[in-house]
Amino acid sequence: MQPVRAADIPDFGDVSQQGLSTQQEREIGENAMRQIRRGGTMMDDPEIVSYLNQMGHRLTDAAEVSDQQFTFFPLLDTNVNAFAMPGGFIGVHTGLIVQAQHESEVASVLAHEIAHVSQRHIARLIDGTKSGMWLSLGSIALALLAAQAGHGDAAMAAVAAGTGLAVQKQLDFTYSFEQEADRIGMQTLKKAGYDPNAMVTFFERLQKHNRLYENNAPDFLRTHPVTYKRMSDAQARSNEFKFKPIPDSLEFLFIREKSRALQMGGREGVPYYTNMIAEKRFANETAQRYGLAYSHYLLRQYDLAWAAMQEAKTSLNKGKSGKSHPMLEFLAGSIKIGQGQFAQAEQIFQEATLQFPASRALVYGLIDAQIAGNNLAAAQANINDALELYPSDAWLYQRMAKMYAQKGDLMRQYQAQGEYYVRLQEYAPAFEQFDLALKQPGNDFYLLSSIEARIRQLRELQNSPTK
Ligand SMILES: [Zn+2]
Repeated sequence: MQPVRAADIPDFGDVSQQGLSTQQEREIGENAMRQIRRGGTMMDDPEIVSYLNQMGHRLTDAAEVSDQQFTFFPLLDTNVNAFAMPGGFIGVHTGLIVQAQHESEVASVLAHEIAHVSQRHIARLIDGTKSGMWLSLGSIALALLAAQAGHGDAAMAAVAAGTGLAVQKQLDFTYSFEQEADRIGMQTLKKAGYDPNAMVTFFERLQKHNRLYENNAPDFLRTHPVTYKRMSDAQARSNEFKFKPIPDSLEFLFIREKSRALQMGGREGVPYYTNMIAEKRFANETAQRYGLAYSHYLLRQYDLAWAAMQEAKTSLNKGKSGKSHPMLEFLAGSIKIGQGQFAQAEQIFQEATLQFPASRALVYGLIDAQIAGNNLAAAQANINDALELYPSDAWLYQRMAKMYAQKGDLMRQYQAQGEYYVRLQEYAPAFEQFDLALKQPGNDFYLLSSIEARIRQLRELQNSPTK
């Protein structure tokens, strides 16, 4: 475990002896999320975020854990890893997506982490210490921060250690929790329509990789030692499932290349994809061409990005025309914004949002194109429409702030920026923004009093003991 400085540990007060309440779990998770966000590796890429949440919620629906809230978030990190925190927050490293050969392999790890949450493993560890043991929530935070530092499920072991359990007891605890997460995870995987064998094949491949590069073992393996017993347990269960292979979604293939391109950066990505395409080393040509286009985009080589994106479209349609994909359209519109062709970008996004209404990324793109093109009234209307659907979306408020800034409406700009921070649960900067809003010249009495009322409401919320 990496040492964590005391100053880094958020102050949660003390936890009672009878274990964590659901509310306490949520608060610990939210605190840890703030720490991770401040750490800078959390990604706000709207396509990767929504992909993980779609996959995650398909699994939680299958696991029938509707009473529990789940949030899935990506971290730009090459380690093959994922981790669960109390409150249903599940972090997924891009390395896990990049190293997976099939979509079901990513799903198998998510299903395992979902089981840690649904079985309340961390809370149960604390329940197990009732025998006069007194524990501060700070040691749980410490465990979570260690997890964030790339140690994955080490959180589980650290909590056990923090409770002062004897070493053998700790090992028994974590081993039985891992077995339970594997067992329940595999059932969930099958119910959700993924390949239940994926967990075994993925672990086997990681283990082989592990033997080849011993000092470079993926974190998920280090924190999930694949003992022969665990492997054979998993194998025995998966033999019960006679399943035909499940094809990967095109979205997974795109998301994997986007993650890889982001990990590599454009400088490495362009030659990598150029070689892969030249040597025809691909299972899916369209995804490789998308990876090349996106790598050019990262380097702001917009003309090259556009050409590669068009070739991706051609390969998607295999000569025929008409079909597209929301991620190709998002890239196309983003390239046009990069080129300064805002009206064309707006048109691409406008048409794509009609064709693919489920894509939130396309809505962001449309608003960005409208703000960039100074079409502020249209941007405002779209932001308001989107907020009806997604009222807790911080990124819409961020765009609203930008839109008002461009309009020169400072009071509403600071108000929107404040609402953005509220949605990230960063209350100190939120109050700063609201105070700035109140200090702006203007005599819109209605607006002023609504901001004052919002400040009062948030202060009351913060001061109430139960929240
Ligand atoms: Zn685990």
